[in-house]
Amino acid sequence: MIDVPPPALAYIGLGSNLDTPRDQIRRALAALARLPLSELAASSPLYASSPVGPQDQPDFVNAVAAIRTRLSPLALLDQLQVLEQRHRRVRLRRWGPRTLDLDLLWYAGVTLETPRLRLPHPEMRRRRFVLEPLAEIAPNLELDGETTTLLASRLTDQPLRRLDS
Ligand code: ATP
Ligand code: CA
Ligand code: CA
Repeated sequence: MIDVPPPALAYIGLGSNLDTPRDQIRRALAALARLPLSELAASSPLYASSPVGPQDQPDFVNAVAAIRTRLSPLALLDQLQVLEQRHRRVRLRRWGPRTLDLDLLWYAGVTLETPRLRLPHPEMRRRRFVLEPLAEIAPNLELDGETTTLLASRLTDQPLRRLDS
């Protein structure tokens, strides 16, 4: 008998502020459900947030998804970047508008510091638009010993609006 390791739990942050962002996010969630060697475990409601960085661009629609996957962290990042390309994401400037941004937030508690992949995502602790949807589907998940719920509760100065589904 070959021992097959159990799938890893991973959280993915989704963002879009171009070309009907809600549709981009809904299509991306459906695409995440079809990733190879993976299944969608949960997805948060959709939220609207003000852009990070340049303000002269539309608001973002954000969500967070949980998947169970047998893909390695880098293989999963490859898949996420393929999906971004399929949504015709064009990189114009740093933190600029985009049809779809998929950030790998957390992968089975792994820490990694490489140019291509940093885990957990280094900015997630500071972003309400990540932590609040994440806390909806993983309220007790801890980052450096603090729950997503506690971390999100400290960021209420950042405007965020829950959208009707
Ligand atoms: P931010 O990472 O601050 O949210 P961004 O999402 O706008 O900014 P991108 O242009 O989408 O940044 O990504 C730049 C690079 O970040 C990607 O090419 C990717 O290799 C790298 N990267 C490092 N860690 C991660 C991660 N955890 N998830 C996604 N991409 C990552
Ligand atoms: Ca991002
Ligand atoms: Ca990104």
